[in-house]
Amino acid sequence: MHEHAVVESYSLKLMITGGVHGAGFRPFIYQLASQHSLSGWVENTPQGVVAVFEGPKGAVENAVAKIRTEKPPLAEINNIEVMEVPVAGLSRFSIVESRYPRAHEGPDDGPRVAEDVLPVSIPPDLGICEECQAEFQDPSNRRYQHPFITCVNCGPRYTIIRALPYDRERTAMGRFEMCSTCDREYKDPGNRRYHAEPVCCHDCGPSLQLLSLQGQVIATGLEAARYARDLLRAGEIVAIKGIGGYHLACDATNTRAVRRLRDWKGRPDKPLALMASDISEVRRYCMVSTIEEHLLKSPARPIVLLRPKPHDNGWENARGTVPRANRGLRPGNGRRPEGLTGLDGLADSIVLDSPYVGVMLPYTGLHMLLFSGNGPHSLAMTSANKEGEPMIYSDTDAISRLKCGPQAILVHDREILRRVDDSVTMTTCNNVRILRRGRGYVPLSLELGCGQEGATVLAWGADSKNALCLLHGGNALLSQHIGDLDDVRSRDEAKKVAHDLFSLLHSNPHAMACDLHPGYHSTAIAADMALARGCPLIQVQHHHAHIVSAMAENGLSGEVIGVAFDGTGYGYDGTVWGGEFLLVNATEAVRLAHLRYVPMPGGEKAVREPWRMAMMHLKACGFSNHEIEEALSRPAVLSDPAGAAKDTHGCFASSWRVAMQAAEAGINSPLTSSMGRLFDAISAILGIRTIVSYEGQAAIALEAAAQNWATTKRLGANHPARTAGQRGLAEQAFVIDQTGTPWTIDPAPLLKAVVERSREIPRGEIAFLFHEAVSEVVIRICQLLADEGFPRDVVLSGGVFQNRLLFEMVYPGLRRLGFNVYSNWQAPINDGGIALGQAVAARALLKAGMGGRT
Ligand SMILES: [Zn+2]
Ligand SMILES: [Zn+2]
Repeated sequence: MHEHAVVESYSLKLMITGGVHGAGFRPFIYQLASQHSLSGWVENTPQGVVAVFEGPKGAVENAVAKIRTEKPPLAEINNIEVMEVPVAGLSRFSIVESRYPRAHEGPDDGPRVAEDVLPVSIPPDLGICEECQAEFQDPSNRRYQHPFITCVNCGPRYTIIRALPYDRERTAMGRFEMCSTCDREYKDPGNRRYHAEPVCCHDCGPSLQLLSLQGQVIATGLEAARYARDLLRAGEIVAIKGIGGYHLACDATNTRAVRRLRDWKGRPDKPLALMASDISEVRRYCMVSTIEEHLLKSPARPIVLLRPKPHDNGWENARGTVPRANRGLRPGNGRRPEGLTGLDGLADSIVLDSPYVGVMLPYTGLHMLLFSGNGPHSLAMTSANKEGEPMIYSDTDAISRLKCGPQAILVHDREILRRVDDSVTMTTCNNVRILRRGRGYVPLSLELGCGQEGATVLAWGADSKNALCLLHGGNALLSQHIGDLDDVRSRDEAKKVAHDLFSLLHSNPHAMACDLHPGYHSTAIAADMALARGCPLIQVQHHHAHIVSAMAENGLSGEVIGVAFDGTGYGYDGTVWGGEFLLVNATEAVRLAHLRYVPMPGGEKAVREPWRMAMMHLKACGFSNHEIEEALSRPAVLSDPAGAAKDTHGCFASSWRVAMQAAEAGINSPLTSSMGRLFDAISAILGIRTIVSYEGQAAIALEAAAQNWATTKRLGANHPARTAGQRGLAEQAFVIDQTGTPWTIDPAPLLKAVVERSREIPRGEIAFLFHEAVSEVVIRICQLLADEGFPRDVVLSGGVFQNRLLFEMVYPGLRRLGFNVYSNWQAPINDGGIALGQAVAARALLKAGMGGRT
């Protein structure tokens, strides 16, 4: 032993993988090294961050131990690989510039990006951090009121990255030369802006312009923002270039402005999002839990669906009438839809018949400018495009596609390289659920708990709420929300996103996956691409994919009971599925039970006109044509706002007869077992919605009616104090026919009760009891299946479970009976998450040698 030995140097090399790029990881490592007086270096590589620490053994080990505990808030560490290496005798610690090849280029002297190594992470776009907000508001700060203020913890990322590695020269900021002060901050490892690639200031960054619709410059710089703010104050609509695309905005308290915005967009009923100046403004209108507040303020800054505050006037009273103060706010119908609640002071038409308001907080300095000074406190915000079209994100498109819309366009000269919509989230059962993945979450990949090995697969999702999924090793990258593929521009966008993923990630998929639906656009695109690339195409049934998507994110292999409830999905038998109990593993879905079939008269038309589903459901439980006419012709149905324009009594009566005759003759009346359509039918029978302008509207309005009734009655979803008579509707509402395989679930008793009781009981209450009835039948069937020896692991997926009231009945209900219950949280529970399930199922099928055609 050496008694006074010179402390020997020791050197460790670290490979840190996970979400470590664009998260301030290199300066963090630099600071760790300085604190421990270590020498060495740190570098970004496609696989993660590589670092060498050199110094006394204890100090090196201490520093390594602190990587996990003291990591920057935005970094996600998957793994730290530690290797002892020879001491190089370095004199200081340095940050090595990225030197590996750029995308689209051949190898140079740096290490080659291997074909099948997925670069571990591309950072998502992040909302303005607290420190930058403070600087923004500090008149003495040199970035006071700077619309593009960012640091290593916030700002745009994915939408400005041209190629990897993520360095300024390969971003949309590359063309802005930093001023000497910014440059000093950028190069100072002790500074919060060290290597923050989009860093800039008033002197060197992008600048604002306010344009007329003809493209003339109205104002520039901060003056442009002030002018835009004045326009908004005056009730005008302004298009605003954001992070992932353009928004249309108007003062949310101005009813006329909100209506004009809806008119231009062609969005009569679907809720608009709200951007509120700060959390206290959100609290004026909505109930906000701790989790919801946390979510609103999180770096992703998503839209969060919140419950409006109860209104002083109360909601719809017990007999289904509307408080006087609320009457006549929408010309043309004279009846306030039931969902509208406590948005006192906000324009009546922000949410209409939804039970939730989508709210977000400002996420850039530019947004903060609009709310500063005498600006509005709440803006109605929606993507700048006509309904059904993809969001505008290029400047030329903005001028050409926004004609006759906004009064002016607030633009800047930083290019948006990728279209990324705002993300939409909600909380349910005290968990965060992502309903639409976009800004802030994309392109973070989901880590698979199991099935990490296997083919690289690109999955094409469904035609509505389309999003793609690239499954590579243990990572599944779910793309940004693309939209509905009925629009050719959205189809082009989907192809573009696919190629973007390939080139950005140097990925070369071995297989394509898509839906089983032969008529889906996504199926056709996937087939074309599989053919062009000479790789197999694997088709995965819609509800199988729903369940597998939730299994994948919960790390479930093996078999589960999948409860897949949604609007529409092509079944193995060619009918329209959507009320399914399935025995599922990664490669297979076996149908165990389903809602009994009814025809959808008019096919897709039955989705837009829920009265058609009401008619067929009543028919299926034995109502005569005369009784159906009577049930559906009650004043409540005919005066329904959505139907007001079309459903005059005579017109309705003749159209329902035609529809009935067509259904009886089997003309254009595909069979469906859809749970979404049953919700539609109940909504129509209750006169809540007979015709809709977007899919799911009738069910959403039904949930709103139920939620509002429950809140008014101060009943939680699980409140026990209900009378026997009320419970009577929920119990034994469905008949489960276990004689055949699969079992069928007949809602006849429930439908009969709804028709009968709707004369005596407020429809909000009936809506609530209906939710309970559906919840009880789910629980009952799971129990019956468990009794037969089927798994006690239950997975809930499909768009119907986006219904919070229903989910908050089913989920705890099953758990109380000892089931292990799983659902989608990270991947959308609606069709936006389908691609994940397709990709995972396709990989498993390939592995089992059951895969696809070439
Ligand atoms: Zn910041
Ligand atoms: Zn500068």
